Amino acid sequence: MGSSVPSIGQTWRAIRDRLDTAGIPMAALDARLLVRHVLGLDATGLILSESDPVPGGKVSDLESLVARRLAGEPVARILSVQEFYGLDFRLNPATLIPRPETEMLVDFSIEHLKSHPAPSVADLGTGTGCILLAVLANLPKASGVSVDISADALDQAQANAEALGLADRFGARHGSWFEPLGEEKFDLIVSNPPYIASATIETLEPGVKSFDPMAALDGGPDGLAPYRIISAQARAHLVRGGVLALEIGFDQGHMVNELLSSEGFCDIAIAKDLAGHDRMVTARVPK
Ligand code: GLN
Repeated sequence: MGSSVPSIGQTWRAIRDRLDTAGIPMAALDARLLVRHVLGLDATGLILSESDPVPGGKVSDLESLVARRLAGEPVARILSVQEFYGLDFRLNPATLIPRPETEMLVDFSIEHLKSHPAPSVADLGTGTGCILLAVLANLPKASGVSVDISADALDQAQANAEALGLADRFGARHGSWFEPLGEEKFDLIVSNPPYIASATIETLEPGVKSFDPMAALDGGPDGLAPYRIISAQARAHLVRGGVLALEIGFDQGHMVNELLSSEGFCDIAIAKDLAGHDRMVTARVPK
């Protein structure tokens, strides 16, 4: 009472107000996450500690993280962790921050494979491994491999597999697209490839453009380069009746549909995300 040391509750609200004034969306959530991270508190712990003072040594740690958030760095990048499909995925500078819209690939994969006795899945350009690992976490009989051209990204996917207790059903393959897969065939291939046209990367919001790895965003001159490679080579790595599920940009459905149908895929379907944008293409290898 009357102490000049601010309480934990006063501190996170003051941070919220500073972030909000700076125009940062979800200022309250970000403020709580930063305070929890520095003080080592879970969500309940923060509520129970509202009236405790902030330990003196933590004030400057917290201030430096707030400064990074005010400079536009996403909170997931500052904390090196992002929740995706209810699981925590650790990040490093080589990995994209998992996006909520990518969860629809996981929903589709689980639904498609749930009655399969022992499904195999390949995730191309795996980053944190979020898509494959969320599928494995929900399908106890499934196994899969993560492919990435970045060794650093693949190390992070491996670490996430271990942290989630999924390493025994998971393999990490270093290389470009199908290159490290040899002759292997899968029941399902998933990918959220880089799909931004090189020239438009400049127009992305600062938190993406400056803090996500360029290799995870840049899809070549028209943003479709990865889809050309995947559509041309996926059939050789899918069983008969096997399925491909790809995340796409909001305006790429038509072109990706054309690429897949010219390679002989059937049952091609485009699904919209919660915002009503085309976000996923699925296709099947004829039986
Ligand atoms: N598969 C990872 C994700 O969806 C990485 C995607 C990417 O780097 N383009 O988050």
